[in-house]
Amino acid sequence: METLSIIIPVYNEEETINIFYETLNKVEFNQSIGLELWFIDDGSKDHSLMELKKLSEKDSRVHYVSFSRNFGKEAALFAGLERASGDYVAVMDVDLQDPPELLPKMLDEIKENDYDSVATMRKDRDGESKIRSFFARKFYKWMNKITSLKLVDGARDFRIMTRQMTDSVLKMRENKRFSKGLFNWVGFDTHYLAYENRERVAGKTSWSFWGLMKYAIEGFISFSTAPLTLVTSVGAFSFVLSLIGAVVVIVRAIFFPHTSTFGWPSLVVIILFFSGIQLLSLGIVGRYIAEIYMEVKDRPIYLVKEEK
Ligand code: UDP
Ligand code: MG
Repeated sequence: METLSIIIPVYNEEETINIFYETLNKVEFNQSIGLELWFIDDGSKDHSLMELKKLSEKDSRVHYVSFSRNFGKEAALFAGLERASGDYVAVMDVDLQDPPELLPKMLDEIKENDYDSVATMRKDRDGESKIRSFFARKFYKWMNKITSLKLVDGARDFRIMTRQMTDSVLKMRENKRFSKGLFNWVGFDTHYLAYENRERVAGKTSWSFWGLMKYAIEGFISFSTAPLTLVTSVGAFSFVLSLIGAVVVIVRAIFFPHTSTFGWPSLVVIILFFSGIQLLSLGIVGRYIAEIYMEVKDRPIYLVKEEK
């Protein structure tokens, strides 16, 4: 019998774990398939781990990994992918925003059509704040324009994939993980199912607006060096401009030596403008150096306190 491993990152979700488990238990698959659940407790500060332990005592299909602290959802997904042993591997949130009822359909699709992955996307952005939608849309637009990735606007992390694709994703050992990009970067054939957006059943989201913004910038940096190219072009442009300016100044000094000098304010503006650009460029280069610094340290992506 084939097995499906389900990876579920958990952070302060004591209220949702049991609801998720019950809902998943009610799901009927069209063919017989063995389940393996990997809950990854990402350093929760509530009783999530206790709930997970209770579940795993009750049901031998339930496994858990508990991190020594909060390492982030990306690290949790990675830990799950490393441990999942199934022929198919699914990743989903515990808050039921990724409906377990979709799993049978996703499994059927992947098997019947020989896809490597069946992923999900939301039909629209209803129920999301205007500002958040705006930035999300812009993020996807620019990511697709500038990087080689083809991200789907509204795609969720909820997906199911084959063993082969899972192993490919695991080959990427980078510390700063941007899963949406990684799942896309490995290639393979992914099919998207659209579904109505859902609210989380209980608890609250652990993502703030700035948290998401930071995540977006990190994602961008980890898949594109375009900002560095931009900085180079701006530098080249201002260099050419200064050469032209120098020629003008020299010609004027030779042929019109008595023209009065004026333009102090404009000089100040120019100096400010270019020192601004220089600092900005230095900052951008610095971001990449910081990434290199962190990756070179090669610290573990997560640390485990206990697991079963
Ligand atoms: N999560 C996690 N670590 C974190 C933040 C979130 O493992 O640091 C988990 C969380 O328990 C949930 C999933 O990631 O299963 C998605 O989080 P959430 O629902 O808060 O995000 P949203 O759906 O609002 O984007
Ligand atoms: Mg959620």
